[in-house]
Amino acid sequence: MKLYLASGNAHKVAEMNTLAQASGLDVEIVSAKAAGGMPPVVEDAGTFIGNARKKALALRSVLPADAWVLADDSGLCVDALQGAPGVESAYYAGPQGDGAANLRKLVDVMRDVPPERRGAHFVCVLLLAGPEGAEAVFEGRCDGVLGETPRGGTGFGYDPLFVPAGHQRTFAELGDEVKNELSHRGRAWASLAEWLRTRMN
Ligand code: IMP
Repeated sequence: MKLYLASGNAHKVAEMNTLAQASGLDVEIVSAKAAGGMPPVVEDAGTFIGNARKKALALRSVLPADAWVLADDSGLCVDALQGAPGVESAYYAGPQGDGAANLRKLVDVMRDVPPERRGAHFVCVLLLAGPEGAEAVFEGRCDGVLGETPRGGTGFGYDPLFVPAGHQRTFAELGDEVKNELSHRGRAWASLAEWLRTRMN
């Protein structure tokens, strides 16, 4: 089965492909780029599910009627910031969506927050959109705390600051394999894989 991925983010395409392969399902992730390009989407729905739906339907509208599209919306919710940046995670430091600038801003904003108030969690919503309005939604969450300075060289976005619960190292230090087992995206994918397994058998 082909799943067209409604994302222009090359790192997400790679992460999603790894998750798909690890699940042992006969699923091929096709990037929006390979399918002709991701149409522009304004992510202003105000919720992870709403934004994921906007992305999925935008890509579906330029594909054949029987296509299945997978969209992902995710973000980091920080307790001390009342859940910010949340759905705004990609544009925290400005509309250009600069991951390094977003990370720097979070480091600055959290500078004086003591360790016991540095709790945060990642959220990922995966939404499948298929023929005749078919839709299925899967959610994953990963709890942790924010370090004080960025550490590690793998992953993307806020990975160098996020230490998942039960670990001492950041996502960017733990590496992709460990991250995929623990992460919000890995957990949402596990539910999606279960759903696909039932449908494909
Ligand atoms: P989206 O493409 O609208 O889902 O944007 C999600 C944003 O949330 C990304 O640009 C990152 O800033 C942040 N984010 C989501 N998932 C992760 C992750 O696994 N690691 C680090 N940052 C993430």
